[in-house]
Amino acid sequence: MLDVTVIRKDFPILSRKVNGKPLVYLDNAATSQTPQQVIDVIVNYYSNYNANIHRGVHTLSQEATDKYEEARKKIQTHFNAEKAHEIIFTSGTTHSINLVANGFASLLKSDDEVIVSALEHHSNIVPWQMLCEKTGATLKVIPMNEKGELVMSDYANLLSNKTKLVFVNHISNALGVINPIEDIIEKAHKVGAAVLVDGAQACPHIKPNVQQLDVDFYVASAHKMCGPTGVGMLYGKEKWLNKLPPYQGGGEMIAEVTFEKTTYADLPHKFEAGTPNICGGIAFGAAIDYMNAIGFDNIATYENELLAYATKKLLDIEGLRIYGNSKHKTSVISFNIGNVHPYDIGSIVDKLGVAVRTGHHCAQPIMDFYKIPGTVRASFAFYNTFEEVDVFVDAVKKASQMLT
Ligand SMILES: *Cc1c(COP(=O)(O)O)cnc(C)c1O
Repeated sequence: MLDVTVIRKDFPILSRKVNGKPLVYLDNAATSQTPQQVIDVIVNYYSNYNANIHRGVHTLSQEATDKYEEARKKIQTHFNAEKAHEIIFTSGTTHSINLVANGFASLLKSDDEVIVSALEHHSNIVPWQMLCEKTGATLKVIPMNEKGELVMSDYANLLSNKTKLVFVNHISNALGVINPIEDIIEKAHKVGAAVLVDGAQACPHIKPNVQQLDVDFYVASAHKMCGPTGVGMLYGKEKWLNKLPPYQGGGEMIAEVTFEKTTYADLPHKFEAGTPNICGGIAFGAAIDYMNAIGFDNIATYENELLAYATKKLLDIEGLRIYGNSKHKTSVISFNIGNVHPYDIGSIVDKLGVAVRTGHHCAQPIMDFYKIPGTVRASFAFYNTFEEVDVFVDAVKKASQMLT
């Protein structure tokens, strides 16, 4: 079991005040907080071995290179990738998706089809629309139902031998619903389509096993799983990474350059042009260590209790509606009260020290489905407490009294 009192001591930010009140941070789906263990790794990097990697013969460069490649191996192990060079460091989920979408531009033809889900973050929609514009391929959408679940019978009907790619998130950032990606992947593979899973919202809660999933691409951001911003990962099966052309040209990604012809470096360097976020990559590895030490089973059990407790308490508030009522959910609650604008609720609870997100959560198609401008979203992490849920619900009650 988790000892949350002990865990909270790892997070310096959790003891600060906001507007004179103790901070209650419930915006974890936008970015997670950073434990001292990860902050120490960042400080240590810049204090002791800051150097550019891979090129230098000098000691600092070798130390930095070793730590960076060690972090890649940690990520490989965490996601159970077969090979370390199947892990590409990127600046985050958005960069990872663009890298793959850009690569497919040279592989798709105009009568090909690609499938997206109705539950996606804009960063798993827009790059594919750009790809379809470039190639003439058609974008199809798996619809959702009132509960915020994908309609899997419709998905089966969308698939055909024209389908080349399917891209879905593992967990919706706007609703917290967990998608049946095992089934999605299996059905896509039956028609020969590749699958990209956006794991940005899943990785703070569960430990994906890419080989068991048999997924072709899996992407995530460090900053949603206790790591720093500006760094993330792309897992790709070796055969796919070999097939895709490089995304950016530059230093580090080449084997040989002349003005007549350039040959590209082997994986993973082919996709890592320029000086990467070295410190960020190393800190990403440390964040994964930190979360594994706590244990993903413990995290899931505890967060589910927080979710159940908060859901029950919130539903006591008159006129409050929760969006995304699937049984398969992580600790995200998206809600509205009557016709009150989500922004007004968010502003009032902020005065009481409670940080929640309001708006469309980069998922406008979901808001269009429910015919709402946005929601208030509270998202819980393993370092949140039941007492914080009480403070949050009281703050929402107060906002509701003022606004309705
Ligand atoms: C946060 C998020 C993204 C975008 O991640 P960035 O770190 O901003 O690139 C994409 N998809 C989902 C599901 C997300 O939650």
